[in-house]
Amino acid sequence: MRGGGIRVLRTIIARRAGFCFGVRRAVEAARSAAPAYTLGPVIHNPRVVAELAALGVLSADTPEAIPEGARAVVRSHGVGRDTLSRLEKRAGQVCDATCPFVARIHDMAREAESAGLPLIVVGEERHPEVEGIRGWTNCQSYAVADEAAAMALPAMERALVVSQTTFIAERFESVCAAIRARVREAQVRKTICPATRDRQQEAVRLAQSADVMLVVGGRESSNSRKLFELVGKVCPRSHFIEDAREIENTWFHPADLVGITAGASTPDCTIKEVAARMNDIEKQ
Ligand code: SF4
Repeated sequence: MRGGGIRVLRTIIARRAGFCFGVRRAVEAARSAAPAYTLGPVIHNPRVVAELAALGVLSADTPEAIPEGARAVVRSHGVGRDTLSRLEKRAGQVCDATCPFVARIHDMAREAESAGLPLIVVGEERHPEVEGIRGWTNCQSYAVADEAAAMALPAMERALVVSQTTFIAERFESVCAAIRARVREAQVRKTICPATRDRQQEAVRLAQSADVMLVVGGRESSNSRKLFELVGKVCPRSHFIEDAREIENTWFHPADLVGITAGASTPDCTIKEVAARMNDIEKQ
């Protein structure tokens, strides 16, 4: 925080830090379905995954790895058509907690398939959400994470373009510009979800006025890492932490304003512990 005078350390927590609606819904669905199996961890947060495991919600890598007749939960990332049908054959009951914002993109993939259009997903090729989206079309599909990957696409007459829900809005525009250089008629659908967009915008605003930013999230959480990337551009003293134990006193000066934000898969209890730890540091 700029300006003179003597001030103590202050902390502001972003209003949109922590679980988004889709993640909260999937975690609740997994809790209610216990004992059950999910394909991959419900969310990228080790603490929540451990709590769910204690209730009997376990992760399997493939539908065939789930014991026959067991209950299965589809996490918020969703799965492709073939995976869903294998899951339905294997499990006794399937609880589909695909986030509605992701399900909407599955519909678009089906639409592309019906129209015979190639599908381009702007996002991380190996991210389960991107794999799931591509699994709803039998037409040619591509995943592009940046401009270089877009420029490497084959030349196409037409294509439908969507994005991973947690992609960074600004980068989506620049990747789309590169896609347009390869696709004569690119139909672009803006599918970054509102929860991601609002969280990213608020985090950047907070980072603009903060001296130090703490981004709380699981190391494997794609949306938390993107949040860290965004705030790091405007606040050089930004730190990515998984929990309160990682916070070091040496990161702060007495007059600092500290902003805290958290990814969509960070539980409230972890954010509260970070706030409590900052409270202790403020009192020192
Ligand atoms: Fe749904 Fe958006 Fe949350 Fe993903 S980040 S689960 S799309 S609300």
